[in-house]
Amino acid sequence: MKSSEIFNPTLREVPSEAEIVSHQLLLRGGFIRKTSGGVYSYLPLAFRVLKKIMNIVREEMDRAGGQEVLMPIIQPAELWQESGRWVVYGDEMFRLKDRHNRSFALGPTHEEIITTIVKQDVHSYRDLPLLLYQIQNKYRDEIRPRFGLMRGREFIMKDLYSFDMDEAGLDLSYKKMHEAYKRIFERMNLKYRVVEADSGAIGGNESHEFMVLASSGEAQIVYCDNCHYAANVEKAQCQAQEAVKAKSIVVKALEKIHTPGVRTVDDVMQKLAVPIESIAKTLIYWADGEYVGAVIRGDRELNEIKFKNILRCNELVIADEKQIREVLGISVGSLGPIGAKFKVYADQEIEFMDNFICGANEDGYHLINVNMSRDFVPETIADLRNAVKGDSCPVCSAELDTIRGIEVGHIFKLGTKYSEVMKASFLDNNGQEKPFIMGCYGIGVSRTMAAAVEQNHDENGIIWPIPIAPYQVIIVPVNTKKTEQMELAWSLYHQLLGLGLEVIIDDRDERAGVKFKDADLTGIPLRITIGPKALQEDKVELKKRWEKETVLVAIENIVEEINRILKQY
Ligand code: ATP
Ligand code: MG
Repeated sequence: MKSSEIFNPTLREVPSEAEIVSHQLLLRGGFIRKTSGGVYSYLPLAFRVLKKIMNIVREEMDRAGGQEVLMPIIQPAELWQESGRWVVYGDEMFRLKDRHNRSFALGPTHEEIITTIVKQDVHSYRDLPLLLYQIQNKYRDEIRPRFGLMRGREFIMKDLYSFDMDEAGLDLSYKKMHEAYKRIFERMNLKYRVVEADSGAIGGNESHEFMVLASSGEAQIVYCDNCHYAANVEKAQCQAQEAVKAKSIVVKALEKIHTPGVRTVDDVMQKLAVPIESIAKTLIYWADGEYVGAVIRGDRELNEIKFKNILRCNELVIADEKQIREVLGISVGSLGPIGAKFKVYADQEIEFMDNFICGANEDGYHLINVNMSRDFVPETIADLRNAVKGDSCPVCSAELDTIRGIEVGHIFKLGTKYSEVMKASFLDNNGQEKPFIMGCYGIGVSRTMAAAVEQNHDENGIIWPIPIAPYQVIIVPVNTKKTEQMELAWSLYHQLLGLGLEVIIDDRDERAGVKFKDADLTGIPLRITIGPKALQEDKVELKKRWEKETVLVAIENIVEEINRILKQY
């Protein structure tokens, strides 16, 4: 392809709306354009990358026994009502009506559709296992579409659904997908980590996420180098004995003290000159129609996912301060577990804290020398906080570390969650009717493209991993007016094309500096520069995008050298 003909309108300036590197570089490199919030058009270079990602995904899904299908984006409300998710999915679902006033959704995911298809046409254990997948646009009206392709409202996903006759079958399907996903991210040359993930309030079911490691990642990963435990912080367990620290000897008498103007944990620390570890804070939430309070140590972060799982509620939102004042007659800063007018849930660490400080459920007062075993009985004592660096590993007790990642894949054992409510069953080998045992497995294809950029770039632009680069090689003749340079450029171009490689020739009448800048920005892995000086010695320059140095290679060897490098990937 000639540079002069490729449609990749590059931008010199960093677009102001782009907060993270992948968004900036994909816009600047002319890969994508925004059509609406969270809705993007993929221009030719981006579409080439996406097709490569999709091909790798497709090959691995097929290898694992998946069969590709294509399901509708428009999904009738009835199917979602059947599963109960028409309501549960809430505002994240794009809804529309047809001319007859019938309701539809733009598919955010396809469990309802696939379960219906399989229920209608699969009746015997002999037809199982069945693994069906598609690669298609998904629609989610995210609260905060952001970071370009990372969190779009329209995005490309691969979703596979497995149907098995029993748990053992599901285990096998799950394992196959787990392996396939590892191969996919390895083949793309991405640094990634598989982590245990939260599987929601249903509980018991297994779930893993595949995280591309990048400092800008939204996900916090907690991992152990000693035993390979790794989990999303949403899920990572904290050990109860963690809390046994500085055990004080005397349990002192409970006391109420006057603390006018003291509202936050910081205020308490300053006013009472105490360490943050001796304070318990009470966070109040609105959970499916009632107020609930979570008590955690002052320096800890409440893990809302864990809390939600304990409460087994649908909706959990932090309570409105004004409302709390109206309903309970106190400000949120004065809340505490003793004498509370709401259900109290205590983090397991609280049990091990002695003589601690908390709100008195009365404005302007705090309680000191609080001891849970003596002073209050919570609804439940549970693991409610986020794990942090330095906590001990739940498997081997070594110290945990943290790292950030981007969730690009998610695999999930569903069990009978959908097959039961949607009455999707088959006859087993005893002629007994059984619900299908299901699993679902997603990869964010467009998000993976952005994650690859997030992980692989420098100050000059993108450094595409070779297996997903839009083109593999770019040939840059320094001066297009020099026939000698152009002849060699075209000759190399045709030789490389002849080997089946994907090559760009920069035939534009631009300064070399401009051409180099563009090649760096768009991230083409290998650059051959044809300039007058090297040419005198029958050489060309070879630059690997991921290395700083340029090397001189004899013209007669360059094609072989390029081929050799690319073959390694
Ligand atoms: P998240 O927690 O990031 O919202 P999710 O748990 O909702 O993700 P799944 O329903 O498991 O995501 O979807 C499978 C995959 O689709 C995710 O692992 C992710 O790579 C991708 N994905 C999900 N939501 C989006 C989005 N809004 N934009 C781009 N990709 C997405
Ligand atoms: Mg989501």
